[in-house]
Order: sequence, then structure tokens, then C-alpha cells
Amino acid sequence: MTRLDIPLIDCHTHIGHLPGVVGEAFTPEDLCYILDQQGASFMLVSSASATTIGQAYGTAEAVEMVKKYGDRLGGMWWINPHDPAWQQDEQTAVEYGFRGIKIHPVLDHYAVEQAALEPIFACARQHGWPILTHTDNDGTSMSAARYEPLIRAFPDVPLILAHLRTEAITLARRYDNVFLDTTYMEPYIVEVGVAALGADKILFGSDAAEGFDVGRAPTRPRPPRSYAGLVDGLRQRGISDADLEKICYQNARTLFGLP
Ligand SMILES: [Zn+2]
Repeated sequence: MTRLDIPLIDCHTHIGHLPGVVGEAFTPEDLCYILDQQGASFMLVSSASATTIGQAYGTAEAVEMVKKYGDRLGGMWWINPHDPAWQQDEQTAVEYGFRGIKIHPVLDHYAVEQAALEPIFACARQHGWPILTHTDNDGTSMSAARYEPLIRAFPDVPLILAHLRTEAITLARRYDNVFLDTTYMEPYIVEVGVAALGADKILFGSDAAEGFDVGRAPTRPRPPRSYAGLVDGLRQRGISDADLEKICYQNARTLFGLP
């Protein structure tokens, strides 16, 4: 296993029961194994059990994770706005020092509309939390462009539009509070993003532990990935070391207020 040669904060990782195959679940220990083996610094982590089982269950998993490993794994509160009781976890997320909010309109089945998400953005504003969202393919009811009214209404809430879609690049050009992440994007798309936006707007994300070596056979095999391999892919696109440092850790450190 090649180890990283620069610090790395992964802004987009998951524990819990993943959608797709029953029994595929990752633990905080799996993520710590990746950090240790690959030489990464920190992960921002939400529990996918919030969508496969229920929000309260996912929040509880993330709390247990933060209690044990909060210096390496930062809690992201996965909110499902369909859940009539979603706000009941708010004080818990504050108490355990969660770092931000994760939403996933595709997995939780809702269109991105201002009325639907305004309470979540207001909650993020109140606690100074960035929001990380899964961004669906351009042109759908869950795509990046649908967030524009919320971006304008909450200019003080940093919004990370995961997966570097084309619609997201145009929003990040126009709005100071919009960022993108590299999760599951080909290196040439990241090159396009850096050319269009500069490196200040892009954060490294991966959806780990999917595809990463966690020291045991996964329930659902995925194409193998590693941090060194992903970073090397970006280098091969000509992204400079100075830009890589912003993408790989400086931007996340600033946005999430990490030491
Ligand atoms: Zn994800």
C-alpha cells in the first residue's frame, strides 16, 4: 500500500449500513484502518444508516463514533427532511460537536425545493455548519441548479455540492458559499473544475470506505481505490502541488474549522 505524501482530509465518507446490498456496513474502525494504512489525517463522516434504517439510528451511530474517535473522525449529521422527528437529533449533534450536515435527496427521495430544505439550512446557519449534499445528474429535480434559491437565501451557509457536476461548477463560479467535492469524479473532471474555479472551491471527497482496503473482504466488492492512487490521478492531470494542498486539506480545514 502506497502511503500519502501530503496531508489529507476526506470531506465525504460514511459509516453504517449502506444502500444496495443488505449486510454491507462500515464501522468507525474501518475508517480508522484506512487513515492508519494510507496516512490520511481526518475524515468527515455521516452514517448511511440514516437512509437505510432511520435517521435516529444513524445519528446514534455517528455519536458513538465521535465519542471514541472524534479527533480523527468528525461527525456529519445526516438529516432526512421526510422524518417528522428529524429535529429531535439537533441538540445531540450540537452536544457531540458534529461538524456539519449531510443530506441526500436521491436516497431519501425528495425534490430539491426551497420550502423543503429551508428548515435544514436555517439549522445549519444557527450552528455554523456547512452542508454537504449529494448532487444528482444535471437537469433533474435533485441536481445542483435546484439549490440556487437556497444558496441566495443563505449566503452565510457553505454548501458543498458533491460530485462536481457541470451545473455545480457554474454555481460555484457565481456564489462565494458554494463548493464542490471530488467524490467519484474522474481526474479530468477535477482538472476542468480547477480550470474553471481555481482550487479554493474544491474539496477532496471519496465516499470511503467503498472500494478501500479495510483489512477484510467487503460484502459488496467495488473497484479498489486508495488515497495515494486518487491523488496521483489528480497529479497526472497537471494539478499543481499548491492546488492539491488546497483541495486535499486546506479548504476543508477552513470550511469545517478543523485544527
Ligand atoms: Zn456519499
